[in-house]
Amino acid sequence: MLKVEEALTIIIDSVLQLNAETVSLTNSLGRILAEDIFSKGDIPALDNSAMDGYALKSSDTKGASSGTPKILEVIDELKAGMITTSEIKHGQAIKIMTGAPIPRGADSVIMVEDTGREGRNVKIFKEVESGENIRKAGEDIKKGESGMQKGALLKAPHLGILAALGMPEIKVTRKPVAAILATGDELIDVGEKAVPGKLRTSNTYTLYSQVLSYGGIPVNLGIAKDEPDNLMKKIKSGMECDVIITSGGVSMGDYDLVKDVFVKMGADIKFWKIAMRPGKPILFGTIKGKPFFGLPGNPVSSMVGFEMFVRPAILKMSGQRDEDRKEADAILEEDIKKKKGLRFFLRAQTRWENGVYLTKTTGPQGSAILKSMMLANSLIILPEDEEYIKKGTKVSVRFLN
Ligand code: AMP
Ligand code: MG
Repeated sequence: MLKVEEALTIIIDSVLQLNAETVSLTNSLGRILAEDIFSKGDIPALDNSAMDGYALKSSDTKGASSGTPKILEVIDELKAGMITTSEIKHGQAIKIMTGAPIPRGADSVIMVEDTGREGRNVKIFKEVESGENIRKAGEDIKKGESGMQKGALLKAPHLGILAALGMPEIKVTRKPVAAILATGDELIDVGEKAVPGKLRTSNTYTLYSQVLSYGGIPVNLGIAKDEPDNLMKKIKSGMECDVIITSGGVSMGDYDLVKDVFVKMGADIKFWKIAMRPGKPILFGTIKGKPFFGLPGNPVSSMVGFEMFVRPAILKMSGQRDEDRKEADAILEEDIKKKKGLRFFLRAQTRWENGVYLTKTTGPQGSAILKSMMLANSLIILPEDEEYIKKGTKVSVRFLN
């Protein structure tokens, strides 16, 4: 049977990054940049004052102190946003506000706190050095510099820089549109009246949430019957989407028809079973070039299957790097018996205590016990060849969001 990593490699090799779309700057937060950004000019554009004070020649402040101030003539006043044609000569200064461009002839700014104004003159109480309190043009971003690279995740400072560069519209990678189809004669939807023997499709809503959480656009195709024509019709209704995700109907039962229907529709099946629990039957393939996943019906299996296989596919399609899944070693706080040959993913609470992680399961681990997932902040990963794992053993955990 296929190992988890082998399955993952097949998936990553089969899905492609989507093309780009243009969005407004305000809609670009959290999106993935689809182009390299080069600055057409210096940011800031001109040398400007870092302080409210007086622009002057530093040489004119030589020997200045509170006891022996230097006196300069104030020839102009500059607010932020203004520029002046005045040029400072020896013995002169221009009053300047933070952000205003440095006038010609000045090489420094003295803080207003170190001066005293007297009519048309200003007393300078301190020496300043050449370049003091001047923000140089291009100190943030230089002309031609690549401020941001393709693939960057756009966060608040990125939006600020894009605004500073004069970019009201941004090219980002398109979000994958993911069709979600629940399958099973026993299923009813959330708003429907309870019927004996039927159960509500919780998978539709966990999968919907997972798609949204990782930057996809979920499209709910509803519930398909365990009947080939109906299944095919529902799958066809999702063919415009970038990826199709079904749940249920992929095991060995008499009414597990999902694989056969995909085959009948001309799909290229890449794999069907992975050596793991929960989630052994997981179908993956492409249909008309688009990837599809047949996840198992049990609520935990479907969620874990998504976490391990669909999530990386969605990240790749949208150009995201997988940066927020951390794995760590943790000390197991209970004895565990597992089946040999399968990698186990147990729902767990992992906490940091006295310099180590401690981990324990969130109660009964049945694949229909969705609460085990709700209470988990992590998955304990137990290797294929183990059978008995003793309390106190170091195990691997994978943190969920
Ligand atoms: P299946 O994989 O179709 O044999 O389904 C396995 C188990 O998962 C059965 O007990 C189903 O009732 C349950 N199941 C299947 N689909 C869903 C769903 N959409 N929501 C909740 N449970 C489901
Ligand atoms: Mg079923």
